[in-house]
Amino acid sequence: MSTVGSAGEGGQQVLDVPPHYFPGACFVCKATPPAGGSLSRCANCRMIKYCSKEHQKMDWPVHKTICKKLRNDDGSSVLADGAGIIDSAAWLRHRASQTLALRLMLGRELRQHEKEMLFFPPVCEVCHKFRPAEQLECERCHSAFYCDQIHAKQDADRHERWCEQLRLALACDRYEALNGLADPPILPDVDETFQDLPEDIVSMLSSQILAEKESVPEGAYVDPVLIAFLTERLSFPLTVLYALLKAPGERPVGERESLTVHVVGAQMLVECLGIIKWEYLVHRLPRLRAIRLVFVGPELFRGCGDDMAGAVEDSGATRCADCSRRQRSVVHELRPVTYHEYCRGQHWTRPDAVVAFNSGIHEFAERDEDTWRESLPFLVRHERVPLILTAYTRTELRKDLDELEKAVPSLNVLLPAAKNPFGSTKPVRDMCREDDCDVFFLNQFVTVLEGDGTGDASPCRSPARDALPQMVMVFASRFG
Ligand SMILES: [Zn+2]
Ligand SMILES: [Zn+2]
Ligand SMILES: [Zn+2]
Ligand SMILES: [Zn+2]
Ligand SMILES: [Zn+2]
Repeated sequence: MSTVGSAGEGGQQVLDVPPHYFPGACFVCKATPPAGGSLSRCANCRMIKYCSKEHQKMDWPVHKTICKKLRNDDGSSVLADGAGIIDSAAWLRHRASQTLALRLMLGRELRQHEKEMLFFPPVCEVCHKFRPAEQLECERCHSAFYCDQIHAKQDADRHERWCEQLRLALACDRYEALNGLADPPILPDVDETFQDLPEDIVSMLSSQILAEKESVPEGAYVDPVLIAFLTERLSFPLTVLYALLKAPGERPVGERESLTVHVVGAQMLVECLGIIKWEYLVHRLPRLRAIRLVFVGPELFRGCGDDMAGAVEDSGATRCADCSRRQRSVVHELRPVTYHEYCRGQHWTRPDAVVAFNSGIHEFAERDEDTWRESLPFLVRHERVPLILTAYTRTELRKDLDELEKAVPSLNVLLPAAKNPFGSTKPVRDMCREDDCDVFFLNQFVTVLEGDGTGDASPCRSPARDALPQMVMVFASRFG
């Protein structure tokens, strides 16, 4: 464990991860019941479980405020209202309205795990009845519940598709509940010659991890939890590489000596988390002498504490020994503004590629405060500069593309929207079950586009190439 942006060694401070709620596991340590046994339930709300009195006591100060609101005065549970709703859209609406009601009752926003109590409750998957005393529970994932055998059978095929992923989601959360924020070491390989990417991110990382070991027993595989955390990090640089191989822009990526990538709509705790991961892209490109990663977005520092400045500065020294020896220039630039503001400002540098990860452009279009609309034409303003877009789900990517096409009618598709072989494999439970999927993944779908150079573009400022030392973090206004 180490601070955000550190090289992943040295084991400094552990970053706490906000707790998640899994209906079949101890809320504190995420232990599941022993075979044939059970966990104890909160006697009042009956929605939250613990492995021991000690963990129940430990959680009570946090749980008690919401616990009392989860059971009505007549003794019935809030979950009783949903029984009988079969239709999935109606069920989703019902839980959303429960969430709103609870928020009003408490007079505050719900915490993440409290929302999850309402969106992933221990009710029958089929009829949504809440029968805590006699319900059946999937003994593999502990995330699916049934009122009786008939409903368990009815849901068996559907659940089979997700059981393993739900189990992995819980295993990853258990790891972080016990150890703090996962900070998997980034693999040290540096390529001497340019190689095409393997088929997908899992085969790539598994073979690299196994290659590091001295002896590998027949049939060995890598812990899926480690792979999940690694892919969640490395999916960002590897998706850029994958997209540039498919849609190279002005020059083949393997021949490039310098590369400037604009990461738009960036958030520190996502795109910049464990910032050394971006070297993983550098290490695949033997001819590269200089890379400039410009992270741009008004929400760049969202969720970051005041100590973030220090944590970010740490990463200024994370260029690996090999990159130092090769005198590679690795520049991370942070610009906490909208992309159009950045493009019109004096710090703009011409990109070789623009990328927006899991941007949810369409979600902003439905809000009053749309920080994307004015930026959209700038994403594709230069011919031969590819725009890489990723999304959690197929539907989200399609909706994002619809918004982009409204703003920029003349788009060329360089890589049609499809499943991204370099997406994360760490499952995230989906509250909306979009596309009938129980989980989604970061960067699960990808597309690459290009403008035809005729789109709106108020003139770019001439690039201000400040003279930079080999390794810098450039801070915009916030840190002076
Ligand atoms: Zn426990
Ligand atoms: Zn309770
Ligand atoms: Zn049922
Ligand atoms: Zn299961
Ligand atoms: Zn390096």
